[in-house]
Amino acid sequence: MSAFAASGPALTSGVVGLEGRVGDPDESVLRSASLRIGGSPLPLLAVARVYVCGITPYDVTHLGHAATFVWADVLASVIRMAGVQPVVCRNVTDVDDVLTRAARTRGRHYDEYALGQEFVFHQHMSRLGVRRPDSEPRARHHVTHVQQLAAALLTSGHAYARDGHVWFRGAGALAASGLTREQALVLSADYGDQPDDPRKDDPFDVPVWRPSDEYDPAWPSPWGWGRPGWHAECAAMAVAVLGHGIDALVGGDDLTFPHHAYQSAMVEAAAGLPLARSILHVGGVHQDGAKMAKSTGNLTLVGDLLETHAPAAVRLLLLDRRWDEPWEFSAPHLDEAARRLDRLYAAAGGSTSSDSAAGAVTARLLDDLDVPGALDIAESEGGAAARQLLATLSLS
Ligand code: ZN
Repeated sequence: MSAFAASGPALTSGVVGLEGRVGDPDESVLRSASLRIGGSPLPLLAVARVYVCGITPYDVTHLGHAATFVWADVLASVIRMAGVQPVVCRNVTDVDDVLTRAARTRGRHYDEYALGQEFVFHQHMSRLGVRRPDSEPRARHHVTHVQQLAAALLTSGHAYARDGHVWFRGAGALAASGLTREQALVLSADYGDQPDDPRKDDPFDVPVWRPSDEYDPAWPSPWGWGRPGWHAECAAMAVAVLGHGIDALVGGDDLTFPHHAYQSAMVEAAAGLPLARSILHVGGVHQDGAKMAKSTGNLTLVGDLLETHAPAAVRLLLLDRRWDEPWEFSAPHLDEAARRLDRLYAAAGGSTSSDSAAGAVTARLLDDLDVPGALDIAESEGGAAARQLLATLSLS
């Protein structure tokens, strides 16, 4: 069965004759049109394509990464619960300057070093109950598609070639972001888009293609030997694997600008079609008053938490909140999540709870992935409602 083949109702020939029309209609078919994300309806048909901006495999996984991938996993699970087949693509950004530098300082080739980091990442995700995506494209396997994107953007007038670069004109991405120019300049600089680079026409132009120095991976192209730009990599991988008009684009809230803004703008400029119907920016995890980040060393590592706590408790810690709100991690929160999990297990062992309780749990999940609301119902009603929720959230 292909990844795109949908499961469906077994009744394939209908009923001929009035006397055969017995039994109740299956109201569960309405679930697929009931999903709301970010306050807006996201009705689904048969298959839902989800692109998750994945890791740059150069270092350990921290709790902020885990939050994004656990929420993407729950989104896929809720889609499945709604009777729709999720097709999840989570990329690996393995052509990236921080990875290249990390590998070089260890005397390793970047792609071989990346594979080792990916292995550890997969172990952590597996322990957290995150399903393997249907596809995990690596940027180095999609260089041709980035070049096709560059060619399309040049043809449509949204990019220009200069000195080995293909620059994407970024004014549209800035306008769509809702940010002020000053805010956007700070973010562009923070995320390596080098707004003060004098070689481009405008500070907000970003490279689709750029030349490589002797230490960077390089591929031949019509514009010279070089490598893809970061935003272009994800744009190309998303379209190559899932096509246009995907149902959900998922990433941490730190990817809102510039990464997702440019990724979306490039695809729309090249193809005339939106990249995604919805975008989920998962709230960032803070610690000691600052955002959890490798660059600052302000980290709690997933591997460390899994040494001392049950994986399901760590997973529940990430899920018992709104998906789109930033939050502050502290150790007592994890202990509280473990106690909440114990109460849920105890409640699930009961035989009470009505069909309406199970339906209420489903309704909460479909309404903007309201996990805390679903957990409250499951904990108070217990029984089948709690068991259903534990299964849907992969906490059992
Ligand atoms: Zn991405």
